[in-house]
Amino acid sequence: MMTNEHTCPNCGTSTMKGWKDLNDEEKEVVKRLPAASQEDDEERQQMNRWCTRCWYESRARENQA
Ligand SMILES: [Zn+2]
Repeated sequence: MMTNEHTCPNCGTSTMKGWKDLNDEEKEVVKRLPAASQEDDEERQQMNRWCTRCWYESRARENQA
């Protein structure tokens, strides 16, 4: 099993992208994800990463060993 911190743990086929790597359309999707209502926007954009295939959202704090 290949585990790579940049690969989505949910679908396993796409890479996780940081906010800066998202295009405008993708950013709009991220703003509408369920986590948007639970977390601070600024914090999400700094800490979280997203899979642009299934829109799994990962939090850096959970991923750090
Ligand atoms: Zn995924």
